[in-house]
Amino acid sequence: MVLPTTTWMEVGAGCFARRYASFDVTVGVVLGDAGAVVIDTRSSMDEGDELLDDLRRLGVGAERIRAVVNTHGHFDHCFGNARFPPCPLWGHALLPRYLRREAPTMRAFLADRGPEWAAEMDRLEMRVPDHLVAHQATIDLGDRLVELVCTGRGHTDHDLVVVVPTAEVAYVGDLLEESGPPSYGPDCFPLDWPDTLDALRAILTGSDDPDRQPAGPTRLVPGHGNAVGMDFLDRQHAEIRTVADIISRLLESSPGLEDAWQSDEPWPYPPEMLAEALRRAFEQQAGG
Ligand SMILES: [Zn+2]
Repeated sequence: MVLPTTTWMEVGAGCFARRYASFDVTVGVVLGDAGAVVIDTRSSMDEGDELLDDLRRLGVGAERIRAVVNTHGHFDHCFGNARFPPCPLWGHALLPRYLRREAPTMRAFLADRGPEWAAEMDRLEMRVPDHLVAHQATIDLGDRLVELVCTGRGHTDHDLVVVVPTAEVAYVGDLLEESGPPSYGPDCFPLDWPDTLDALRAILTGSDDPDRQPAGPTRLVPGHGNAVGMDFLDRQHAEIRTVADIISRLLESSPGLEDAWQSDEPWPYPPEMLAEALRRAFEQQAGG
């Protein structure tokens, strides 16, 4: 097993990523003349404080933080929000609604982990994004632009990608995962996910042509694991497409979830990790 790094990795000019053992989450920071953009804030206020300390070690004091972005609303990416300075907090337009609905469940889940987590969740302040992105937005760091892009539904209905064109780096949240299979959770959109990655690839390569390789060494920072290249995107994209194709076929041929689940299919990931994907697809077909 590869242990998470405990240092900042420069994945592109002025673009850093850091892995944390807690939930093996990967956060990011983009540096520019006008300050820094921080991408994701970890699972609690204490973890947010630890991230702020680690940013200081990178020369980024709180006063240098120009904006914070949440890639999506799962607790490991946004429960540290309240510890960050009162700068713009960006998220997908659907994120505030998601947090209002789901934060209590996520808090209860974490509180169940033991007394320390229960205390953490007792004192948790939820800060919800105040700068919302429905399609695309730009943060100007003076010498460089940071683009925030919604490419569609996949891991959730509110995944937000952060692209730094001058560094050829993209922070993709949990639309890709390097340290394990992509996470098909209770709020995923398994049938939309492949098209969302098509749209992401088109943005990164500037082309709809699936055979076109980007000009530069594009690095993608996943929400969990190490930075990867476009070859990894293409590989995981193909697997996510295979999952969607099998599910689409099962939706047509199976009268219900029970029958579909018993079928022996060439899933690219362990089937037990795909139970929610299948359930979600049947739910969505039924209009849920
Ligand atoms: Zn997630």
